[in-house]
Amino acid sequence: MSRLIRCECGFVARGDREDDVITTIRQHMGEDHPALLESVAIEDLRGWIEMD
Ligand SMILES: [Zn+2]
Repeated sequence: MSRLIRCECGFVARGDREDDVITTIRQHMGEDHPALLESVAIEDLRGWIEMD
């Protein structure tokens, strides 16, 4: 079972481990939504994770 976070823009970060998904979504935010990256904490991101 993999984990995923859906970005508000439609981007989906997937991974087998929570840390992988968080790394991927933070990398995406840094490129596309730098302001969001600064305002969202790691703990918030953990709450956004869905199981697939
Ligand atoms: Zn996005």
